[in-house]
Amino acid sequence: MNKIDLKIDGHVHTSMCHHASGSMEDYVLAAIDRGLERLFFLEHLEVGINYFECTWLSRQDFDNYFQEGLRLREKYGDRLFVGLGVEVGYNPERSQEILERLAERTWDRVAVSYHFMRVGDQHYNLVSRKSHNLEALGRLGVAKVVAAYFDTVLEAVQTVPAEVVCHLDAVLRYHPDIHFEQSHYRQIELILAAMAERGMALEVNASGCRMRGEPFPARDIVREAVLRKIPLAAGSDAHRPEDVGRFELLAETFGEGSV
Ligand SMILES: [Zn+2]
Ligand SMILES: [Zn+2]
Repeated sequence: MNKIDLKIDGHVHTSMCHHASGSMEDYVLAAIDRGLERLFFLEHLEVGINYFECTWLSRQDFDNYFQEGLRLREKYGDRLFVGLGVEVGYNPERSQEILERLAERTWDRVAVSYHFMRVGDQHYNLVSRKSHNLEALGRLGVAKVVAAYFDTVLEAVQTVPAEVVCHLDAVLRYHPDIHFEQSHYRQIELILAAMAERGMALEVNASGCRMRGEPFPARDIVREAVLRKIPLAAGSDAHRPEDVGRFELLAETFGEGSV
């Protein structure tokens, strides 16, 4: 059962987000090298986040992003479709502003994720490997943070006009005690139901393959999405050009009869 197009990498970042390396052109060339047909840049947009560093693009950055993206589309368009998209990090306290920011531009792909949870007056990154984040979120209790994460993802799906949901189960992915309970799986089912209703795709994020030998989300969740007729979208989540289109494990997982 092959339900995913591995000639499309629907999720890459560049040095514009301050925590990835390589220019947009480097990623385009890497994608052509891999034999991809379509590449979607999915740069980070965050609103109202109080974090010790900026890991997303400003308005001005997005101006530059579109300018350079359109130049690359012109230059390489006969060899690769260059998509200019956005990974919008949901912030439940600033949803109206997020919708306004999204409405300002024409995106080739709007993908939604949830990265930053507020604790007191600070935000902490839910998918980071930094001990600063893991310790603060861990103190709240892993199960509690996971439940809050899925609650917020559900709200994001119901609020943001996105086509794709990114790395659904990547919450606290670097925390040593991460595990999901039955109640969390029930939350995931609600999210999948809301996605199906809205025709949103589920990203199968290959960064999980490199990290834990299994994509985000895990196979059982992908299987449940397929049963609900939710389309799947492959994304490398590359933060360096050499990771563009690295779908070896997805190719195995989604090979004949394996899902
Ligand atoms: Zn990133
Ligand atoms: Zn992300």
